Amino acid sequence: MLANKHILLIIGGGIAAFKSLDLIRRLRERGASVTPVLTKAGAEFVTPLSVSALATNKLYTDLFDLNDEAEMGHIELSRAADLIVVAPGTADLMAKMAGGLANDLASTLLLATDKRVLVAPSMNVRMWEHPATQRNLKTLHGDGILFVGPGEGDMACGEYGPGRMAEPLEIVAAIDVALSDGPLKGKHILVTSGPTHEPIDPVRYIANRSSGAQGTAIASALVSSGANVTFVTGPADVPPPAGVKVVAVETAARMLIAVQASLPADAAVFAAAVADWHVSNASDQKIKKDNSGLPEFSFAENPDILATVSQMGNGRPALVVGFAAETNDVIANATAKRKRKGCDWIVANDVSPETGIMGGQENAVTIISDQGIEDWPRMGKTAVAQRLAQRIAVCHMKVELCWTGDADRTLPLPAYHTKGAAGADLCANFGKAPAPKTLAPGARALIPTGLMMAVPSGLEVQIRPRSGLALKHGVTLVNSPGTIDSDYRGPVGIIMINHGDAPFEVTHGMRIAQMVLTPVIQATFSVVETLDITKRGASGFGSTGVTT
Ligand code: C5P
Repeated sequence: MLANKHILLIIGGGIAAFKSLDLIRRLRERGASVTPVLTKAGAEFVTPLSVSALATNKLYTDLFDLNDEAEMGHIELSRAADLIVVAPGTADLMAKMAGGLANDLASTLLLATDKRVLVAPSMNVRMWEHPATQRNLKTLHGDGILFVGPGEGDMACGEYGPGRMAEPLEIVAAIDVALSDGPLKGKHILVTSGPTHEPIDPVRYIANRSSGAQGTAIASALVSSGANVTFVTGPADVPPPAGVKVVAVETAARMLIAVQASLPADAAVFAAAVADWHVSNASDQKIKKDNSGLPEFSFAENPDILATVSQMGNGRPALVVGFAAETNDVIANATAKRKRKGCDWIVANDVSPETGIMGGQENAVTIISDQGIEDWPRMGKTAVAQRLAQRIAVCHMKVELCWTGDADRTLPLPAYHTKGAAGADLCANFGKAPAPKTLAPGARALIPTGLMMAVPSGLEVQIRPRSGLALKHGVTLVNSPGTIDSDYRGPVGIIMINHGDAPFEVTHGMRIAQMVLTPVIQATFSVVETLDITKRGASGFGSTGVTT
């Protein structure tokens, strides 16, 4: 993943700077190239010589002079990288970033860049906990800056707590994620999350029990899939996820303004539990308990953000996802809600107190779309979010097709014949002067489809047989299902075999196979001494594990 990636590493002035030397080594081991920038304070902790010896690329320091500028201008330097990493990210560097200062090389590069920036904070625990640093952190989160760490532990200064810079391998992992070409790369997705607070007076408000956990998990999963996420959040219990642009609001009215200001977007996920009403006679002074009786409130309806966005003509996101938190008749209510609001999908869940879903860690949702009703099993909110992000990713995927040079371009392209079809048919394409191909019993042949395709990363195309051919003629595919990887650009050929007793003629334009798109998960393989023990155990080979 890191091979040929170019990292601009800014080394700030902290005791953890020595770990950045190891970080350079780890990155280079993985094939990345590292251009180091050493701040003046950083040079007090590690020497320019050791940094440049490890990095092999030219080292830049504050002594960046006119010669350097002639070779590579600072703007170019800040943009030539795939990612900027700040490690150690000192309190001073974070403050400069948050304030937009550009009074030395590092801060100038950080202000001038158009690339993602990952910061590994490192500082004394009191400095980390200081309101100024926490304020800067919030600002930087809001600007979409990514963070890794800090960890908690003994500090060089003898204190204990958060502030330790993440270990080099943790930073490498965060770099990996930041650079990953997720399937939603380049897509802008808007997510609303959390409750809204509707004021009664300056100190009191009406709210609901939403923690913001599900919306936050969704935003985080979308970021991991490569999307640029604008996260419009009410006052939630959980902090916003890393890597999103945060817009914090209190009321439904403000949320609508923030949502409209964040458009256009490719998709919008409305996970916020927006209050339906606000107090229309909210007082601008604290209401006193006096002898004039109980206060009387009148209510007015809040704008329906989901319906507003779903029903906007021009500029409507191609995919609008709403949520339906119901306590009874979940499916019927959610189905009606989808129609009423005009959104594409509704994610419905039962939030009756006994489900423990509202404010809890798990969720059991049903997805209602024009493709039908799909029940997902109860799972963690993160898992729901990942699955939803994958669903959204699949929706945005286009498979580009290209004819091969000798293909007959008059044949139909693969197409889904019904709304629920998983497979699109592929035809035999014997070119401009087609002749049928006869498969003798037992024979196999590579049949051209006349197509090449670019499958988006994160997906594969599986080539599967057509059951009609198998049933009637004993003809199927040899490598079934065959895979077309996202980085394959060659012609798509189908290896057919005749298991039947009679010769089988494959004619030009015959539908011979179907292609099915499926998500790909690349696992990390690790060798362990023993595997965990299961009921079926090692003796389960060739059996279902059921003994009766
Ligand atoms: O109508 P109800 O509040 O049950 O609809 C829930 C869905 O509508 C959620 O997706 C929620 O975020 C959205 N909603 C909204 N604006 C409102 C009320 C709800 O966007 N004022």
